[in-house]
Amino acid sequence: MTERKNITIMGAGLVGSLLSLYLAKRGHKVDLYERRPDMRKTLLDGGRSINLALSDRGFRALRGIGIEEEVRQVAIPMHGRIMHDEEGRLTFQPYGKEGQFIYSVSRAGLNAALMDISEPNPDITYHFNRQLLDLDLHQNKATLRNHETGETESLEAELLFGADGAFSMVRNAMQKTERYNYSQSYLEYGYKELTIPAAEDGSWQLEKNALHIWPRGNYMMIALPNLDGSFTCTLFFPYEGPLSFENIKTDDDLLAFFLQAFPDVVALMPDLAQEYFSNPVGTLVTVKCFPWSYKDKALLIGDACHAVVPFYGQGMNAGFEDITVLDQMLENFDGDWEKLFHAFERRRKPDADAIADLAVLNFIEMRDKVADPRFLLRKKIESKINQQYPDKWIPLYSMVTFTDLPYSYALETGRLQDEIMQKVMKHIHSVEDYEKPEVQKLLEKQLIQKERLKGYQGQRV
Ligand code: FAD
Repeated sequence: MTERKNITIMGAGLVGSLLSLYLAKRGHKVDLYERRPDMRKTLLDGGRSINLALSDRGFRALRGIGIEEEVRQVAIPMHGRIMHDEEGRLTFQPYGKEGQFIYSVSRAGLNAALMDISEPNPDITYHFNRQLLDLDLHQNKATLRNHETGETESLEAELLFGADGAFSMVRNAMQKTERYNYSQSYLEYGYKELTIPAAEDGSWQLEKNALHIWPRGNYMMIALPNLDGSFTCTLFFPYEGPLSFENIKTDDDLLAFFLQAFPDVVALMPDLAQEYFSNPVGTLVTVKCFPWSYKDKALLIGDACHAVVPFYGQGMNAGFEDITVLDQMLENFDGDWEKLFHAFERRRKPDADAIADLAVLNFIEMRDKVADPRFLLRKKIESKINQQYPDKWIPLYSMVTFTDLPYSYALETGRLQDEIMQKVMKHIHSVEDYEKPEVQKLLEKQLIQKERLKGYQGQRV
């Protein structure tokens, strides 16, 4: 055990709340400052259910504080994607091998559960309604607005973690330091959350154990199940253009568009117009920056240093994995926080960049390719290769979602596998073609080359 520190965490979202438990477990005293009111007492987001896909990397971090099973109990396994075409026909594509699922969890429910677990700990204190306005990094002096009193308060942090999300004020302070690298890029798409409520008897109106996708070329809608029988749908749609948020102005425009694009669900969305015109359009941003720390004083974590677009369902999972990695480093910690912060940011940065790029690429796959029969055939062939060569081939989606191989390794290996698949698919017109001697021979040759190019064994995170 190194010297006990008074640690300040800015932001009590998913990452900040989980981080508090890990730091307290290591013997530190933790104070969390959160801009919003206590979500357990106040309805946030207009009371809408918003859910997230939780997968292996996230579960691993929850396991570290002993709540993996508890969370699994209130999560809904999604065994694969169900694609809905314009005629309402359905196609199922499993996510991984038998038993490999991703899970739909309530964002607020998970955040509140983390608060419930951490709050009784005498070493963890939450301060709600406290918004960081300004930070003097040299002295780690924070100026906060107390939304209960309207007053301004200040505090001096011994050690500060910036877990304050994609628009982080802690990062904002770092951006003012010398030679700071920062980039943000927005997609020309926004998103809007809508609901398919439960049926009258409380049951789900679509298959419950799946992530539903309506891929429509340059836009799409997805739906994830909630425990109360409803689905939260997210429409990813261009801001501008012939089919865009800009061009849907009236109830009639909306209905005409939904009847043409998503005819099988219009009848399941009784509040469509009311929700569509009152729910906000969210932005989709990728944030990259470096360094993530300032001397031995402050470290960014989670979305604050690597916000990614949501198409791989990995933003929170990556933030949770940051905590797993930090905790591993704290295991052999010699008390030098500056050294620790540097080692952490150098180790995580390539993986954060990789998942950011993978997430953008997966948008194209989800909104466009999953509707293509050739693409689905390719997925089936890949799963056959994985069965035949489990030690040599893991599909990219599985590497990202069901393993703890570094994201950067997954990205690089995924590129090599993509090249091989392009060659193999030239010989494939049906699943049966996989057994053809020329396909098997080609594959063997390609796998030998792949091994030469890159040893298979990726380092685990
Ligand atoms: P946040 O969740 O943003 O939390 C930051 C906290 O800091 C908030 O509570 C905020 O109120 C507080 N805060 C901000 N500024 C201040 C301030 N100045 N002072 C004090 N407090 C402040 N990830 C997945 O893994 N799977 C998914 O399926 C998935 N789906 C997504 C779908 C959408 C539409 C979006 C937008 C994101 C999705 N994500 C998903 C990403 C995921 O939501 C984020 O990666 C995750 O919430 C990051 O957690 P965080 O704690 O770092 O940041």
